[in-house]
Amino acid sequence: MATIRDNSETIPAIGIDLGTTFSVVSKLDRAGKPVTLVNAEGDLLTPSVVLFDGDDVIVGREAWKAVAGEADSVALCTKREMGHPVYHKNFQGKQYPPEVIEAWILNKLRRDMSTQIGPFSKVVVTVPAYFDEVRRKATQDAGYMAGFEVMDILNEPTAAAIAFGYHEGYMNADGRPERPQRILVYDLGGGTFDVTVMEIRGDRYIARATDGDVQLGGYDWDQRLVDLVAEGFIREHYADPREDPLIAGKLWRECEDAKRTLSVRGKAAVACDYRGFSSLVTVTREQFEEATQDLLDRTRFTTVQTLSAARLGWEQIDRVLLVGGSTRMPMVRRMLQELSGKEPDSTVAADEAVAHGAALHAGLLLAKSQGRPATFKIKNVNSHSLGVVGTDPQTKRKRNGILIPRNTPLPVSAKRTFRTQKANQQSILVQVVEGENPSPDDCTTIGRCSVRRLPPDLPRRAPIDVLFQYQTNGRLKVRVTVPDSDVKVETEFTRENALPKEHLDGWRRHISGEGPTEYR
Ligand code: ADP
Ligand code: MG
Repeated sequence: MATIRDNSETIPAIGIDLGTTFSVVSKLDRAGKPVTLVNAEGDLLTPSVVLFDGDDVIVGREAWKAVAGEADSVALCTKREMGHPVYHKNFQGKQYPPEVIEAWILNKLRRDMSTQIGPFSKVVVTVPAYFDEVRRKATQDAGYMAGFEVMDILNEPTAAAIAFGYHEGYMNADGRPERPQRILVYDLGGGTFDVTVMEIRGDRYIARATDGDVQLGGYDWDQRLVDLVAEGFIREHYADPREDPLIAGKLWRECEDAKRTLSVRGKAAVACDYRGFSSLVTVTREQFEEATQDLLDRTRFTTVQTLSAARLGWEQIDRVLLVGGSTRMPMVRRMLQELSGKEPDSTVAADEAVAHGAALHAGLLLAKSQGRPATFKIKNVNSHSLGVVGTDPQTKRKRNGILIPRNTPLPVSAKRTFRTQKANQQSILVQVVEGENPSPDDCTTIGRCSVRRLPPDLPRRAPIDVLFQYQTNGRLKVRVTVPDSDVKVETEFTRENALPKEHLDGWRRHISGEGPTEYR
């Protein structure tokens, strides 16, 4: 029997939402509509959980189940640790960089999806808008180690806004909004919180202001529920089930489930067995909301600040868009309704919108590379100020000299002229940081730029220009020139905590079986 084969060599447009707790993959169908792909288990959402089981690395649902009995062998919420040198736990005596663990997650997604749609390598991966440069680079590296070619890194709220625009029919020239639409994207996921004010102007998606917290999400709500249940248990049996990591892991899973129950019911019961005692602890929605009010208040505070950073009032916001699984909690919707005076919008699927937006962006990039016209454009801002560390001449203290303030439209570049301190100086070292604090110690060091082999015989105080360039995706490029000289200086931008290319290639072979390719 003859099989019908698609002979067109079209590259699929794939977007990946690499979430703290769940990851989602989307692909554009033939009509250009984003659809969510299912994993090998048949689920739309893959838990971003990794189990180290002897020589096997297991990702997803089975790893998530193992939290209940083998918590010591499970990596959870790894995305929260991106930018650190290693994940905090060790597995069978080994510690891994967070981006390596993330690569295992991405590799599972690649393998699962390629059995359905055939092999693919070009993808767009999303990151919280509030991710700094170091975390963005780590995400790109994770993609590389998983055998991908990451075409771009896209901010999650921008992706959600694009999915929203698609849903509203704005992608067609005749469906575009007549006046600019301003939307506030409130994204509360499992481990991170992000809020961004976006403006849709014709075909342009423009970020106006962004803020967030990479240490705040549904996971924190879970922990509060664990505490409530543990306290109930202690009152009855004078024993704390959180003391045993295995029991604590099981309790967390039960509480995460009970939290979902509390989104639809007024109370939920959690069973807990410890030291031969057992209890069924009932928690009401009211108790749960009271115990987590401060977490919600933090998101409220950030939301208000972001709106004022965008110099807008609520009356100028057309929609409040809810993204992320945790926005299903009634307390979130209620708070935003009170704050904004508007009914929050859930027209985009809370868990899938980000992946859908990423697939639409992937489609756009592929179209552009084939010379086809773009259906929309993205304008982004930087989420952290960029600075270089200098010494205050008066106090002699180190300080952060801000070059590009946060919320500046991207791409942007800034030039800083440094001066040699003595005659015939050979090299200069520049420390580059991101953050708002005047003290460099309270900022994130992105890397150190060393300028070597300066032309010989430069006088003292000779100018050296360093050009910092933020690309639209928030990644940084550094270039150095010596004015009035065509000497090519050697610069090396050594990134803080970044894995060297040989390590990336080694992990890429180990995790994905793919060979090394060109990669910056
Ligand atoms: P991330 O992108 O950070 O991985 P998601 O957007 O997938 O996160 O959201 C996952 C979070 O949403 C988890 O903390 C999960 O417990 C929570 N969540 C999902 N559904 C519900 C619900 N019905 N009620 C409350 N929380 C929920
Ligand atoms: Mg998310």
